[in-house]
Amino acid sequence: MSETNGKVVCMVTGGSGLYGMAIRAHVDSSAEEKDATWVFLSSKDGDLRDRKATEAIFERVRPTHVIHLAAMVGGLFANMSKKVEFYRENMLMNDNVMECCRIYKVQKLVSCLSTCIFPDKTTYPIDETMIHDGAPHLSNEGYAYAKRMIDVMNRCYKDEYGCNFTSVIPTNIYGPHDNYSIQGGHVVPGLIHKCYLAKKNGTPFEVWGTGSPLRQFIYSGDLAALTVWVLRSYDSTDPIILSVPEEKEVTIKDVALMIRDAMEFKGEVKFLTDKADGQYKKTASNEKLAGLRPDFQFTPMAEGLKKACDWFCANYETCRK
Ligand code: NDP
Repeated sequence: MSETNGKVVCMVTGGSGLYGMAIRAHVDSSAEEKDATWVFLSSKDGDLRDRKATEAIFERVRPTHVIHLAAMVGGLFANMSKKVEFYRENMLMNDNVMECCRIYKVQKLVSCLSTCIFPDKTTYPIDETMIHDGAPHLSNEGYAYAKRMIDVMNRCYKDEYGCNFTSVIPTNIYGPHDNYSIQGGHVVPGLIHKCYLAKKNGTPFEVWGTGSPLRQFIYSGDLAALTVWVLRSYDSTDPIILSVPEEKEVTIKDVALMIRDAMEFKGEVKFLTDKADGQYKKTASNEKLAGLRPDFQFTPMAEGLKKACDWFCANYETCRK
């Protein structure tokens, strides 16, 4: 990374979340990242929906590089019921962060999209060129359109101001420090929490939906390492999908059974088929990533899930749930 007045300052918004905490752990354990000062933000450092608060952060930290992860994030059920908030809050945060990166001459900004913002009706596998090819699934259109605008604005900032802005597109993330809320969280932390309660209460482990939808999951530690690589070495405005290969796609049922094993739950696993399944699949191609990082070794899912389950059990009293 090039330097400004001898200092490289990497600022991570959303630094207290699932993804941000994984980057923090990666940076802490990696000798190569010691050439920069890393600053991890949470909402307590300032509300990024607020322009003045965002400017105050940039004024104080003076970042040379930014990884922008802060977002209003939630699972299927939260997305369906709060579309206006998912759109507005994410638009405000993204607009404030991007504009401050321009004003404060940040050398590189990496923002975060998601595979769930791709068109609902599409061909598979989806790749980086297809983001705007059709409407997203109705269940999360507020979140999806706010995220899609990051890609549009990355190009606009490059064209008009020459800014070096890009974005990553992770598939479903899981790992320690997730939001384990059963109502508002994503599928993996929700299942871990439900399995924990089933084991504790001697009740069946209930999985919402049929268990048949297919998903690619990435362990947060793997994603952290790849994201720091993007910050250092990937110099294109075009987004890049950060995902395990297509053949590593699993059903929700596979995931539930791996969680059952990781939690050593011996009771019944029940599929509540009257609950919504969401999109059947959203298979993403990791060809671009594989071409650039053919050496990268992904954590096997059973191993990553074991770490996520162990973390949840050890931090049950204090974690988000
Ligand atoms: P989390 O919910 O775990 O973390 C969200 C982070 O954003 C927290 O650090 C939170 O701070 C911060 N934040 C939220 N609102 C504000 C605000 N108004 N001002 C300042 N900071 C705020 O999310 P994830 O780590 O899961 O997600 C990180 C990124 O990854 C997001 O951009 C998301 O869209 C993307 N992503 C996530 C996927 C997933 O499966 N989880 C999949 C694909 C993409 P605080 O802790 O103080 O509340």
